[in-house]
Amino acid sequence: MKIYEKAPAKINLLLDVLRKRADGYHEVEMIMTMVDLSDRLEMEELQRDTIIISSQAGYIPLDEKNLAFQAARLIKERYDVRKGVYIHLDKKIPVAAGLAGGSSDAAAALRGLNRLWKLGIPDEELCKLGAELGSDVPFCVTGGTALATGRGEILQRIDNPPSCWVVLAKPPINVSTADVYGRFRADSVPSHPSLGGMMEAISTGSFQRVCEEMGNVLEDVTLSLYPEVAQLKESMQRLGADGVLMSGSGPTVFGLVTKESKLARIYNGLRGFCKEVYVVRMLT
Ligand code: ATP
Repeated sequence: MKIYEKAPAKINLLLDVLRKRADGYHEVEMIMTMVDLSDRLEMEELQRDTIIISSQAGYIPLDEKNLAFQAARLIKERYDVRKGVYIHLDKKIPVAAGLAGGSSDAAAALRGLNRLWKLGIPDEELCKLGAELGSDVPFCVTGGTALATGRGEILQRIDNPPSCWVVLAKPPINVSTADVYGRFRADSVPSHPSLGGMMEAISTGSFQRVCEEMGNVLEDVTLSLYPEVAQLKESMQRLGADGVLMSGSGPTVFGLVTKESKLARIYNGLRGFCKEVYVVRMLT
């Protein structure tokens, strides 16, 4: 039997880092939502007790470093599954881009294997398993829109923001999340985004206010390392996106846009100097 799972990318409408904890993780406040730019996982049961990963993308690990592999291994161990699985990853989400592609693949593998092997694991338990694989995985298990606190694994579901178009542009650089967090200094942040402001903007359904309240304290770190990310932000603003922000630790920059008529200008303007540009809907 073969099953399929969609693994959408996430964007951070708000990302604040409060402090570094004694366990080495950072205490964060993030508002995350999904966009319709997705990997697709094909999963097939194998009678042999093994995990095999393949992908059309030549640039991701296919061994135990792959997060989908780790998800399969974890679920097999915990639920004593003696069968194997072949997972094919059709990658569409750019890698190391700040869009949680690997985390979303891991979450989709957890959801898919729960179905394939008829394990009946409730979402809450899948999220706990996900937290063992990475801080963004629990959010990717359930999707939607959420406030994530702690190291990102404590989730509170909130309303979806007003639906809109999302233009994503990834410059040709790979940013290491660990490196950006390593360079981040909580005491030198000039101003923190307002979580209360963003929560209110979302709950009142005000698109304009959502755009105004967007903020990401990691931008200063990544923008100072890679000026091209700052340039991309400026270009997207100049081309008319309503709200522009870097996602996660970057380097992807996204712009929220309500008017479809603006999209061609923004897309064509960005494609002039950035090869990877995507126009998708917010998944609401
Ligand atoms: P985040 O926003 O959660 O930090 P990201 O979008 O910056 O994630 P990913 O695309 O998840 O980054 O990839 C980060 C690293 O994880 C890559 O360098 C890649 O080698 C490794 N990786 C492991 N499994 C996967 C996977 N299934 N897809 C993509 N990358 C993977």
